[in-house]
Amino acid sequence: MDFAYDARTQELRERLLAFMDEHVYPAEPVLREQSEALTDPWRTPRIIHDLKAKARTRGLWNLFLPDERYGAGLTNLQYAPLAEITGRSPQLAPAALNCAAPDTGNMELLAEFGDDDQRKRWLEPLLAGEIRSAFAMTEPEVASSDATNIETRIARDGADYVVSGRKWFISGAMNEDCRILIVMGKTDPDGADVRRQQSMVLVPRDTPGVEVRRGMRVYGYDDGHHGGHAEVVFHDVRVPASNLVGEEGGGFAIAQARLGPGRIHHCMRLIGMAERAIELMCVRATSRTAFGRPIAAQGVVRNWIADARVTVEQLRLLVLKTAWLMDTVGNRGAHTEIQAIKIATPRAVVDILDKAVQLHGAGGVSQDFPLAELWAHARTLRLADGPDEVHQRSLARRELRKYA
Ligand SMILES: Cc1cc2nc3c(=O)[nH]c(=O)nc-3n(C[C@H](O)[C@H](O)[C@H](O)COP(=O)(O)OP(=O)(O)OC[C@H]3O[C@@H](n4cnc5c(N)ncnc54)[C@H](O)[C@@H]3O)c2cc1C
Repeated sequence: MDFAYDARTQELRERLLAFMDEHVYPAEPVLREQSEALTDPWRTPRIIHDLKAKARTRGLWNLFLPDERYGAGLTNLQYAPLAEITGRSPQLAPAALNCAAPDTGNMELLAEFGDDDQRKRWLEPLLAGEIRSAFAMTEPEVASSDATNIETRIARDGADYVVSGRKWFISGAMNEDCRILIVMGKTDPDGADVRRQQSMVLVPRDTPGVEVRRGMRVYGYDDGHHGGHAEVVFHDVRVPASNLVGEEGGGFAIAQARLGPGRIHHCMRLIGMAERAIELMCVRATSRTAFGRPIAAQGVVRNWIADARVTVEQLRLLVLKTAWLMDTVGNRGAHTEIQAIKIATPRAVVDILDKAVQLHGAGGVSQDFPLAELWAHARTLRLADGPDEVHQRSLARRELRKYA
């Protein structure tokens, strides 16, 4: 593994760093103002459209997609340092570059498993940043970290599928720009193989019977800039059978394939969030005095800063190793490392952000610094895309198998 950036990554890094300084950081207070002024909190604030147009003209677009027929054609190792930079401003930068979840995973899914018609109708406008999308798997009634529990029914009826069920925490689905939902449900609920019972269908958000019921709050935030997290009820929603993604019974395998890259992208951005927290800690600690000394002179504060630096360097190396493995042996070959970073990164970054909040006093929990929102976002990543404990269970099982 080579730690030096290659020429293309270096060039994109410089372009992205300039874009962050010139456009993204100055847009943070604008985003807050525009979001607060919206009557519908889930509409896309104007500033995000403006940033998208600017990023696109600078060639900072669809960097996440390794398939060069559709995206920038970067390897995971090339994309990692770029995603890290976008994580420094996670409300704005990933969306500006058309590199925000859940659209990224949905575009990957359509690129890999969609047919020509599905790609034309949904992938192309997603790649152009004209529409957004959502991925609907989790259900309030069942423990959804175990996908075999999913109860939504996708029943074949003549030339159609009929979808019925209730989902929640469907990211992006509150936003009117979200036009398409990729819905996971059971086509064969009594099938002998529990991993072949599920399928995925494409459900346009405006199909009769789709009820976007409410936006779920996350530690009190509506995550409006992100399109919220919707509760969605499917009342016997009828779509043509051609909306099936892949084959019947293939939903479980597609979901697994979709989540690998998504998990490493989250971890890359989390490292950027941690770097931002360290920077804010250092600025604050050197600019305020308590009990006659700069806060930076306190041993406990120095320990927080030192430990945060050590942790970030460790995490980054593990994330880069994982990216390199994904590029060289594939997502399956990097399974253990993908789980390791998904376990290690969110909880370590939550801890760093917690220290940064503490160091900022009351300001840390307020809207005047990005820390409270960053903390809430990082904390959710101990649940989203699989809770820590589910990854620990699976990683431990593979480790123990060596001794069985
Ligand atoms: C901000 C946010 C955005 C999200 N976006 C989406 C989205 O776009 N689409 C979507 O479909 N879902 C989304 N989710 C849902 C997320 O994927 C689920 O919350 C997650 O998979 C866990 O499912 P659950 O909430 O049903 O928890 P459950 O399955 O009920 O699990 C609850 C807890 O039980 C424990 N547990 C479960 N299994 C084990 C085990 N084997 N060993 C030990 N402990 C265990 C864990 O502590 C776990 O956290 C989002 C969630 C959040 C918070």
